[in-house]
Amino acid sequence: MSFRTGFGIDFHQLVEGRELWLGGVKIPHHKGALGHSDADVLLHAICDAMLGALALGDIGTHFPDTDPSFKGIDSKILLQKTNDLILHQGYKVVNVDAALCLEAPKIKPHVASMCSTISTLLGVSTSNVSIKATTTEKMGFVGREEGLVAYAVVQLHHQFNKVRIVNRSHHPLPEYATLDSSGMDLRAFLEHPLTLSPLERLLVPTGLHLEIPTGMEAQVRPRSGLAIRQGLTCLNTPGTIDADYRGEIKVILINLSNEPQVINDGDRVAQLVFQHVEKVAWEPSDELTATKRNEGGFGHTGTK
Ligand code: MG
Repeated sequence: MSFRTGFGIDFHQLVEGRELWLGGVKIPHHKGALGHSDADVLLHAICDAMLGALALGDIGTHFPDTDPSFKGIDSKILLQKTNDLILHQGYKVVNVDAALCLEAPKIKPHVASMCSTISTLLGVSTSNVSIKATTTEKMGFVGREEGLVAYAVVQLHHQFNKVRIVNRSHHPLPEYATLDSSGMDLRAFLEHPLTLSPLERLLVPTGLHLEIPTGMEAQVRPRSGLAIRQGLTCLNTPGTIDADYRGEIKVILINLSNEPQVINDGDRVAQLVFQHVEKVAWEPSDELTATKRNEGGFGHTGTK
């Protein structure tokens, strides 16, 4: 899994007659930040950190202040769009750590609501969003309440390993149905429909060949819909496809219903789940380190 780190910073002037938006939350104050959008420095710094992590430029590149469609825009929309951009590249936010510098008002009462807004937009838990605030002890433009600053660091991780695939079928490549699906459905690649009698088993071709990265395996698992509706499941499951196997991926299906079941070309017959594999090296010894349980409870833990 590859990780990327990004840093973002944003400044805005504070002026009378503007609303103060910070972290997607409207904060009661007699001054607000001046800007083309709602001037939410905190969300802007987070957007910049996310873009920076992938070297995708900055917020000004993607949402230029010369574009009238961004005038007065809610920065939550900008954060959402930025998140969509990184999701599209296969990345997801791990955590955000941000700091606001401003003299007034007090930020602490609003931190929980900011964290909850940001975590919802990014699809992470609130424990992965940290927001701190500090004054500058009356020094400088922040101390004179002429402006405010936000800093943010984010970590992203790449959700997908690249896997080389040869598709000799006429079906589209397997894909994750939703953002957090674990498996991708495999489709039967058949010239003619197959019929499985009760308790009959068959090897169903998919037309797919994979080059699985070393240190990973692919598992072939049954599909719950097929099992409940037709009594069709996989034998030898989860079947492991090793990283060095280059043959066609085939699925061993068995009909556990009491009626014949037909498999058509393109039917989704199983799902493929990728896993990291731990390997071990043996350390031959005469005895093992004792534990409280020792040899007790083979087949059960020995506890009630
Ligand atoms: Mg800004």
